[in-house]
Amino acid sequence: MYSREEIERLLNLDRSLVWHPFTQMKDYAGENAPVIAAGEGCYLIDVNGRRYLDGISSLWVTVHGHRNPDINRAVADQLEKIAHSTLLGLGNVPSVLLAEKLVNIAPEGLTRVFYSDNGSTGVEIALKIAFQYWQNSGYGDKKRFLSFYNAYHGDTLGAVGVGGIDLFHHVYGPLVVASVKSPSAYCYRCPYGFKESAGCGHACFEAVAQTMAKHREELAAVIVEPVIQGAAGMLTWPRGFLAHLRKLCDEHRILLIADEVATGFGRTGKMFACEHEGVSPDIMVVAKGITGGYLPLAATIATSNVYEAFFADYSERKTFYHGHTYTGNPLACAAALANLDLFEREAVLGRLQPKIAKLSTLLESFMDIPHVGEVRQAGVMVGIELVRDRETREPFPPERRTGRQVILKAREKGVIIRPLDDVVVLMPPLSIKANELEQLCDTVLVSIREVTC
Ligand SMILES: *Cc1c(COP(=O)(O)O)cnc(C)c1O
Repeated sequence: MYSREEIERLLNLDRSLVWHPFTQMKDYAGENAPVIAAGEGCYLIDVNGRRYLDGISSLWVTVHGHRNPDINRAVADQLEKIAHSTLLGLGNVPSVLLAEKLVNIAPEGLTRVFYSDNGSTGVEIALKIAFQYWQNSGYGDKKRFLSFYNAYHGDTLGAVGVGGIDLFHHVYGPLVVASVKSPSAYCYRCPYGFKESAGCGHACFEAVAQTMAKHREELAAVIVEPVIQGAAGMLTWPRGFLAHLRKLCDEHRILLIADEVATGFGRTGKMFACEHEGVSPDIMVVAKGITGGYLPLAATIATSNVYEAFFADYSERKTFYHGHTYTGNPLACAAALANLDLFEREAVLGRLQPKIAKLSTLLESFMDIPHVGEVRQAGVMVGIELVRDRETREPFPPERRTGRQVILKAREKGVIIRPLDDVVVLMPPLSIKANELEQLCDTVLVSIREVTC
């Protein structure tokens, strides 16, 4: 593919010019990270022609694999028509058709689609809509948000304001609007200190109920990652927690924002995670998997009730003054339409269920490794937590960089994954085949054993 000199040049330029996200560049220099040149199905191919299994769906986005012929064709066809036109005051064909599809598949009641281009902006839009909804409706005191410890809603400042991961968010504290925080429902970390099976779920249900009752007059919305907190290390909520939140929001006149950026489009086994508890949020944010992992696109979808609070004579000043230049980009929307067509035509969600079951079975053997503290799973979202001592939950010393060592080891063996601290994340594309699932789990298992034992 590339000559020896071209490969050297590409690798050197990557090391010397590119500042990589969420990466200590001092480490990166010595890591020998591949530069990817191509993809095929669930595999990534680097400039040397080496193939790697994409165990995290290229950071949680790839759905039907790389270089999918149908999505390729849809984008190429759209390219022959037009690459971009603005949604500020105009429509464009793919964004119209996609809105129809999204409203059809979204939980009931969500009927208005506001486009942007990544999960963080989708969240910003949800926060601003929720805030202005109450301003427009004559409840000017409702100005704050309830979010959760360990929450991750993106890296722009508004999204950081409702984030709850100290490692990522602490340094920016002075820059952001404070939100009300409620305890994470995740058990051995939460202030109540006991496991769900022993009733921690109830303590957390009670804690959030109290917080919401106390702050009801000032709360505009609750924002939550339904079913599983992804970037926190794949922390699953107690069953029923989302439905509990929906009920409390109704009781206290607070909007519910579901951040489905990670969980949307089949990742938890249903199209949207909210479906696990039959919940319809007031606002839902989707991004990552929406284009099948092809192009940047997000959608913030609101109920008619929310939308109508903005619908007024211009002089009433209720307009939503927000928009991004590439909002509703036709190429991205065309990819998203092809992605959703594939879900239907290939009955993706039905065919995913046996893969999720197989993954659960494969994950059982991870508990044979003494340094695996816990394995958490929702659909194809998996977190394998590494600890020094399983009984006491004592972590490895941070300077040991255990999670990082594991992913470097797995990469040597041809599998690309990425840790969240000492939680090894697996999130294969929905299109992964049975033998590829085995390769993924076997390789990661061996890598964890070699690094921790
Ligand atoms: C990734 C993520 C975001 C941010 O999306 P970006 O496209 O990276 O800006 C927001 N919320 C959740 C739950 C996410 O997993």
